[in-house]
Amino acid sequence: MIKFSDLIKRNKKKLKNEEEVLEDSIERIENEINLKDTDKYLEDIDPAASQDGEQKRLENIESESILKRYLKNIRYSLKLIKTKKYGKCRKCGKDIGKERLEADPSIIYCIECEKIIENEIR
Ligand SMILES: [Zn+2]
Repeated sequence: MIKFSDLIKRNKKKLKNEEEVLEDSIERIENEINLKDTDKYLEDIDPAASQDGEQKRLENIESESILKRYLKNIRYSLKLIKTKKYGKCRKCGKDIGKERLEADPSIIYCIECEKIIENEIR
């Protein structure tokens, strides 16, 4: 069984890597979105290409917002590690459990609270 302090170290590394990958992806998508904006003049000549371009642009905007949300979670978890609050449920304060933290380093709720939150969203 892995020690909790080792798990935190390992998860911190995972989160840091994830943060870098996400920052790169977001930057790439942002560049593509901006590029599409300047291409718009050219696409106006060909309506089919324009529609394709617009579709792609909307897809990019959507994936960007998903990635940004994910990046926010990652950074929040890193902050919790720094302030030594990592591994405790943000709602009830109970231990989240090593298995859950191993499966997903950015998890911040225990299984019971996550169920409650999921039900509230729906
Ligand atoms: Zn909880």
